[in-house]
Amino acid sequence: MPLRGSVYIRDTRLGKLAVGQTIDGKVVAAAVRAEVRERVMRLAARGVVPGLAAILVGDDPASRVYVGNKGKACADVGIRSFGHRLPAAMPEGELVALVRRLGRDPEVHGILVQLPLPPPLRAAAVIEALTPEKDVDGLHPVSQGRLLAGQPGLRPCTPLGVLRLIDTTGIALVGARTVVVGRSVLVGKPVALLLLERHATVTLCHSRTADLAGEVARAEVVVAATGHAGLVRGEWIRPGAVVIDVGINRRAEGKLCGDVEFEPARERAGFITPVPGGVGPMTVAMLLANTVTAAEQAAAARAA
Ligand code: NDP
Repeated sequence: MPLRGSVYIRDTRLGKLAVGQTIDGKVVAAAVRAEVRERVMRLAARGVVPGLAAILVGDDPASRVYVGNKGKACADVGIRSFGHRLPAAMPEGELVALVRRLGRDPEVHGILVQLPLPPPLRAAAVIEALTPEKDVDGLHPVSQGRLLAGQPGLRPCTPLGVLRLIDTTGIALVGARTVVVGRSVLVGKPVALLLLERHATVTLCHSRTADLAGEVARAEVVVAATGHAGLVRGEWIRPGAVVIDVGINRRAEGKLCGDVEFEPARERAGFITPVPGGVGPMTVAMLLANTVTAAEQAAAARAA
């Protein structure tokens, strides 16, 4: 289907292709929030108000801003938020006890622990105390195991956002050649598993990959999540490919940029996300979606 405002290129192998569409993450995130708002209203009709508990330990300024933004985003869609601001010197045992208590609180459907935690607190110990049904960040080993096993469960927010952005392009993932660059537990691996769940053919690249350029060049979908500015070169992109850039890097002059060389990649890609304004806005939107999913599932379990 011809796309409005598209530029066309002719590729010797692939023929005439539309290129250069930028995916606006803010617009897609706004659509997700609108869906969440409707689901919240449907729950309200059943007497359920979704609730998200956010735990912030210490006073890291960036974490404070993130938690504040999440609280505002909740209020905007009708999700009740419960803030827990705790001192950096909080003993780990007390933090674990709080997480367990929130796990039993029927008004709380989602729990998020803002990371990183100040040392010596161990993120793994705190995350393991989460009730998997309220693990809206999808970080609990049970959530990860469910994703690995292809069982229903809460999925991590940024990877969910990546899939949602890919879906806006209309590309059929079944059988598609996809490359994920980066194999972290937070982003790369779950993105790869979500693509696999959708029947894509997935290649997972990392710092020891022998021929990154060659792997990327074959891909109809590229997801970059390395934290290295411009690592994925524009000339590697297969004409017409979908390129999702998760990376957030700060240039010397202070501006943000992604892991993909944006302009040269845009000249070849069918669709590409910018940084900022691509994946970034999706993460909070998917957190809201996960919280409503958790509330819907809790309501269904109570009704059963
Ligand atoms: P990690 O540092 O945990 O992982 C980076 C991955 O990139 C590793 O698997 C590493 O490989 C791989 N890598 C590093 N160098 C190369 C290379 N030269 N070639 C191929 N692969 C390489 O980062 P995260 O996954 O946590 O985050 C990645 C980026 O995404 C960061 O910029 C982060 O800020 C951003 N991010 C953005 C979010 C958003 O909301 N937009 C949310 C989360 C993250 P190896 O395993 O071999 O070391």
